[in-house]
Amino acid sequence: MHWREHVQANNRCVYCLERFHEDVSWSWMLGITQESILCPDCAEKLERITDISCEMCGRPALSKEESRHASFKAEPEKQCQDCLLWKEKGGAMPVQHRALYAYTPFLQEVIARFKYRGDAEIARLFSGDLKKASRELGHIDIVTVIPLMEERLWERGFNQGLLLAEKFPCVELLERTGAAEKQSKRHRQARIEALDGVFQLTEKGMNVSFDGKRILLIDDIYTTGATLHAAASVFYTNGAKEVFGLTVARATGSLKKTFNS
Ligand SMILES: [Zn+2]
Ligand SMILES: [Zn+2]
Repeated sequence: MHWREHVQANNRCVYCLERFHEDVSWSWMLGITQESILCPDCAEKLERITDISCEMCGRPALSKEESRHASFKAEPEKQCQDCLLWKEKGGAMPVQHRALYAYTPFLQEVIARFKYRGDAEIARLFSGDLKKASRELGHIDIVTVIPLMEERLWERGFNQGLLLAEKFPCVELLERTGAAEKQSKRHRQARIEALDGVFQLTEKGMNVSFDGKRILLIDDIYTTGATLHAAASVFYTNGAKEVFGLTVARATGSLKKTFNS
């Protein structure tokens, strides 16, 4: 069988498991792309964040007027109210963050499947794009992931964030101190304050020098940014020069509705 036929015969959507046919292009040959493992119907439901209004946290733009390209900026100028508040809070060092997609109901299902059923194929959907997005940052010294809640880690046995970061040389440097309750039950403000002191360095992390280093944190979902700031503060306290965040999804609802209107 010719390789092209072989690929087409085995093309199953990683999410809905439907077979689909797609012209095998050079991009496929050069590496697994999102298009090659999701069927066109599923691929269409992903909403890539291409326009942002805040160059710090990567908040998606809701109108054409405020929109800027979503790439990382060396010197973020436009910042949203939340980011100015983080700055004001004092001690909070800047964390530039970008998310690949809007956290739509569809993506919610995809991520739930990845997280709770440990579907490594689904992680592959995102790991390549996370790697690609990180290239704009230039040289990064250390890549790490946000640790899961203890009880979930115990249930599943390992941190699935590591699967998202599979294209990076990634080490687990943070652990939870056990100081935080389940986040979703709290009010937004309470959530932000409760996250101070939630993370500490793992034993391995304590033997790493963060002095003057540029660090990238990978996670699945960005909600308030509190988790990311709490994790970043551990590295800043230990001498890091810059900390960045990259996530798969950002809680914003559908962008299509707002941006195109
Ligand atoms: Zn599908
Ligand atoms: Zn912001």
